[in-house]
Amino acid sequence: MTNQNKKIYLSPPHLTGEEQKYVKEAFDTNWIAPLGTNVTNFEKDICSYTGSKNCSVLASGTAAIHLALIILGIQENDEVLCSSFTFSASANPICYLKAIPVFVDSEKETFNMCPELLETAIKDRIAKGKKPKAIILVHIYGMPSKMDEIVNIANKYTIPIIEDAASCLGSSYKGKAMGTFGEIGIYSFNGNKIITTSGGGALVSDTKEYTDKATFLATQARDNAPHYQHAQIGYNYRMSNVLAGIGRGQMEVLNDRVKARRANYNFYKEALKDMEQITFNEEPKGFYSNRWLTTILTDSYQTREKLRLTLEKENIESRPMWKPMHLQPVFANFPAYVNGVSEDLFNRGLCLPSGSNLTEHDLNRVVEGIKKVLLN
Ligand SMILES: *Cc1c(COP(=O)(O)O)cnc(C)c1O
Repeated sequence: MTNQNKKIYLSPPHLTGEEQKYVKEAFDTNWIAPLGTNVTNFEKDICSYTGSKNCSVLASGTAAIHLALIILGIQENDEVLCSSFTFSASANPICYLKAIPVFVDSEKETFNMCPELLETAIKDRIAKGKKPKAIILVHIYGMPSKMDEIVNIANKYTIPIIEDAASCLGSSYKGKAMGTFGEIGIYSFNGNKIITTSGGGALVSDTKEYTDKATFLATQARDNAPHYQHAQIGYNYRMSNVLAGIGRGQMEVLNDRVKARRANYNFYKEALKDMEQITFNEEPKGFYSNRWLTTILTDSYQTREKLRLTLEKENIESRPMWKPMHLQPVFANFPAYVNGVSEDLFNRGLCLPSGSNLTEHDLNRVVEGIKKVLLN
């Protein structure tokens, strides 16, 4: 295959080489074990970037959500409200604990959890005799949720928020970083996220007991004793010091990554502004998205599929927007408060290649592929 036609991925990793400095440091100091200066410094970097007071770096974003639920005391048969329009990893940990996910649909502006529907769901669950124990609030594709409204509702009913900000490092609402609004916030450093450690996650909180507890549980819940002593079930969820080294290197370029992804969005929007069959989701005032993925909403399922398949033929990866959790076979039997928004997004929405290492040539190839369909 010629270089002209090289595969364009949706959101590939983007390393600089600088990461190796910290990885080498881990080797040189023999801190290969899951402890050491990279872990501590990566946590400090995340705190200073987000303004969160405390951080525990972990094996994955999913592990962070799992620990967040345990820390907030979620138990078997407890109900946990969760955004329906998300990746399954937001909801799976609820089921690890045999708790019950209760899904809440989206609003049209940000695609995130609809505040009105959230309140409807809370009232209805309470009326049914079971007050939800937590809210897993997901900020999707980098876009912040309507925080004033949602935080108000959570406060009104005193239900803690776990912010799934897996893809939202670098996004903010009225100047405050996503992940820092809830009792607990989580980030992911999976290979497709805005920055990566190949695999990894973080749990942040202004409550030090929570992050301490996360670190404790993530390292097999060892009590303080010369021998191995355990009073509760532990997990092997800590991030390794080698991977934290990659994270330190990536933190140095996080702002560049946000800039590049936002530039992708602006490029697509400008290049496709005359295409009447598609729309872009604008940032409402006070919302700042890292534009992890640029998404477009088409006029029909048919147009969406034509675009996706045409791009695929051009060796360009695109993907339908999330299939909502309430439509997933695995979650079909759980309660859901639905307004049709996320199902419509799933039917008509497409995620475009959004990597921070896309070249102008790549972006033009995507635009040409889209125009080929829409101008026909
Ligand atoms: C990636 C992602 C996760 C899971 O993070 P991992 O680090 O892959 O476990 C959870 N929620 C959302 C919204 C994500 O995008």
